[in-house]
Amino acid sequence: MAVHDPATGQPLCRVADVGPEQGLAALSAAADAQRDWARTPARERSDILLRAHRRLLAEVERLALIATLEMGKPLAEARGEIAYAAEFFRWFAEEAVRLDGGYLPAPAGNSRFLVARQPVGPSLLITPWNFPMAMGARKIGPALAAGCTCVVKPAEQTPLCTLALAEILHESGVPAGVVNIVTTSDPGRLMTPLILDPRSRKLSFTGSTEVGKKLLEQCARTVMRTSMELGGNAAFIVFDDADLKAAIEGALAAKMRNIGQACTAANRIFVQRGVFEEFARGLAERMAALPMGRGTEAGVVVGPLIDADAVAKVSDLVADARAAGARVLTGGEAVDGPGNFYPATVLADVPDSARMCRTEIFGPVAALSTFDTEDEVVDRANDTPYGLVAYVYTENLRRGLRVCEALETGMVGLNQGVVSSPAAPFGGVKESGLGREGGLVGIDEFLELKYIGVQL
Ligand code: NAP
Repeated sequence: MAVHDPATGQPLCRVADVGPEQGLAALSAAADAQRDWARTPARERSDILLRAHRRLLAEVERLALIATLEMGKPLAEARGEIAYAAEFFRWFAEEAVRLDGGYLPAPAGNSRFLVARQPVGPSLLITPWNFPMAMGARKIGPALAAGCTCVVKPAEQTPLCTLALAEILHESGVPAGVVNIVTTSDPGRLMTPLILDPRSRKLSFTGSTEVGKKLLEQCARTVMRTSMELGGNAAFIVFDDADLKAAIEGALAAKMRNIGQACTAANRIFVQRGVFEEFARGLAERMAALPMGRGTEAGVVVGPLIDADAVAKVSDLVADARAAGARVLTGGEAVDGPGNFYPATVLADVPDSARMCRTEIFGPVAALSTFDTEDEVVDRANDTPYGLVAYVYTENLRRGLRVCEALETGMVGLNQGVVSSPAAPFGGVKESGLGREGGLVGIDEFLELKYIGVQL
């Protein structure tokens, strides 16, 4: 199947289009390699991941170019993503050698409980197109550290990053069969038999809530363990006592990372009435000045969206918001091709009923509205089935912590517009997902607890 450059619409190259038979062969390879990989000393697994960490950093320019060409993000952001991906390998290399257990006296005193942590087994890892390198590393890193083999299915639009990652892992010492990549234009046909196969013990998925729900239903049939990193609808809240300059920069970061195509993107920006106009003007000025173009060109911040459908979706959402009374402060019109470009856009007075407040915009459009009180904004922020992340800007620590606690999300940025870190537990509540990736708990997603009762 062809892989395209979203900046030009032109094909870059072709990769294998794998069907169910080859998919099952990949699972067989993973299942066959599982026992030896689990028995490989943790220090060896850790060293392999450390070598891969160093290789990613040493090859950042080559890898960033691959990411920019197939996905569109500006080179500077692509370099950041490679560094982020590399850090997952280092973090989990460090975790691989720290798998602890327990030795407990039974309450009755006549026996002891040993508690061990063991690899869950062959794991299916499905990743999205928006951070292909980082999402691959965020799953492969803990799987390998825990002693699990895997079959990785990247998104159809961005297989090259994952193939490059696999090559580096292989050259860093990952044995044959431990990491298997399957690329396909028909993910359901390929993955359903793998999900239903009892040799698969774990599904770790990052993608949309809609697909995540379907996969959860499939996993129920074999009671397979799952981790689900799904969609978001982040609220970005600016109180009138905020450092407005910092809030504008934070909003820019939370909105424009990956050209707005991030699960963590600020989707609804609530600004307290007294500072609304100043904030809106400041953000619109910054957004209007962002250079748009091909990600490989120097200085570009607004690269292309992933495909023509994404541009059509963003255009529809903007038209719907305008019809509902939103004011355009900058941008607001798709630009002519070639390539899938949409300019940085700021809309004021977007009503909560607008479709863009209910769904992921996944584009460079900031939707602003005013609020009056703390209770009101918390209620409005929580009025969504999603619960991945929120952002709060205030100089009042008591209010900041109160609001952070009241927000129904897995993560909150308090006076910061980016929360992602390999050392922090990343994940959502409600329909944004199950489980956490990264942090001290990230490796647990690939481990089972085993309790051994010992009679004295
Ligand atoms: P998507 O359409 O759900 O696709 C995600 C992955 O699932 C892709 O590899 C896709 O393959 C695959 N897939 C689709 N249907 C499948 C099926 N029936 N069986 C097995 N696999 C299937 O999402 P996306 O558009 O690529 O990514 C954007 C979404 O990901 C957004 O909702 C975003 O919020 C979310 N996301 C969440 C996080 C997080 O950590 N919470 C991080 C990044 C992105 P194809 O590409 O071939 O369709």
